[in-house]
Amino acid sequence: MFKIEFFIMNFQTEELTQQVAHTARDFAQKHIKPHLMEWDESQDFPVHILKEMGKLGLMGVLVPHEYGGAGLTYFEYKTVIEEIAKVCGSIGLSLAAHNSLCTGHILTFGNEDQKKKWLPNLASAEWIGAWGLTEANTGSDAGNMKCTAVKDGNEWVINGTKNWITHGNSGDVAVVICRTGEPRTKNNSTAFVVERGTEGLSAGKKENKLGMRASETTEMVFDNCRIPDTNRLGETGGGFKQAMKVLDGGRISIASLSLGIAKGAYEAAVKYSQERQQFDQPISNFQGISFKLADMATEIAAAELLTLQACDLKNRHLPVTKEAAMAKYYASEVAVKVANDAVQVFGGYGYTKDFPVEKYYRDAKLCTIGEGTSEIQKIVISREVLK
Ligand SMILES: Cc1cc2nc3c(=O)[nH]c(=O)nc-3n(C[C@H](O)[C@H](O)[C@H](O)COP(=O)(O)OP(=O)(O)OC[C@H]3O[C@@H](n4cnc5c(N)ncnc54)[C@H](O)[C@@H]3O)c2cc1C
Repeated sequence: MFKIEFFIMNFQTEELTQQVAHTARDFAQKHIKPHLMEWDESQDFPVHILKEMGKLGLMGVLVPHEYGGAGLTYFEYKTVIEEIAKVCGSIGLSLAAHNSLCTGHILTFGNEDQKKKWLPNLASAEWIGAWGLTEANTGSDAGNMKCTAVKDGNEWVINGTKNWITHGNSGDVAVVICRTGEPRTKNNSTAFVVERGTEGLSAGKKENKLGMRASETTEMVFDNCRIPDTNRLGETGGGFKQAMKVLDGGRISIASLSLGIAKGAYEAAVKYSQERQQFDQPISNFQGISFKLADMATEIAAAELLTLQACDLKNRHLPVTKEAAMAKYYASEVAVKVANDAVQVFGGYGYTKDFPVEKYYRDAKLCTIGEGTSEIQKIVISREVLK
């Protein structure tokens, strides 16, 4: 029997969330918008922007005050990513990788000493965070990783390469999940913190991407890279389970990122459709255009409700695997569709770099791939449904 779980949700936008939204929106307009095409063209990763956001508390949104963070909830976190992504998906992606992957992993699985050591500087963006799970031949099949960590006395020696790592070069602190057991066995990977400058760690190829071009994506290469056992996060063998838990939160980030991109594209399309005249009238008068806007608005609202549901569950420390995957899956597909339709509303002008929608279109596609593709989200959701 088909069963829909129904949650009573009270998603009134609190004053605090509105204040946070205002801060993020204002920052994006003043400091990101004027430069975004320059960074996009050159593929420059503007680290200084992340540092500035750190001063506003946007880089440690979920980190409690005692570790130097803003101590806010997933509602504010969603809002921050969304407001930044409305203007620039790349900075939204970097914000998400730093906050929920690297910092989130240490916050959730670090011991007290580890939290005190790394969280304050991550929350202030003094240090930029990275998170390495994916390898060249193990993306969706992340459990089959080849990068190994071998215990040697009180140290671990890491060898191998992680691919597609956001901030793989500029990250000061990276959480890396390495194989510590036999291939294809249970509990065979462990999470470690590796700091930039550690001997044996270098950055490899930087990817030349379709979109999200101002968010740095590189290989991380480990060649007999030695780290102390005190850098191990949690139990030996617990790496994969930890990563899956971290991705529950990460998927809320990507859903929020998708919402930001979708809303940015939608707002641009609404405005343009009221200004652009053809056949002596605004193109919004044509049902072929206005119905597209109606579909966009409806799908964005549905994606937002799914995302808020996941935020609510996460805030209440309730199971969220299925709901986070649903939010990520649906919101990312909506972002791609909305951005595509926005280009259509702009016609030929939408196909140029003089208008913002071509960038939304390029950036949106990442959302259906990163932190688990849409197909992988469907696997996660169906497993939960069939339990
Ligand atoms: C810009 C960017 C930033 C990234 N940042 C990070 C990062 O910071 N850290 C990190 O660890 N990773 C990062 N990634 C990696 C990302 O998570 C992976 O690219 C993603 O998980 C997909 O893996 P893959 O690219 O190897 O694709 P593959 O796993 O090779 O998948 C290829 C296709 O096959 C499909 N497929 C695979 N298995 C199945 C299956 N069982 N059933 C149905 N379909 C299947 C997929 O859905 C996809 O369509 C990033 C990627 C990008 C593009």
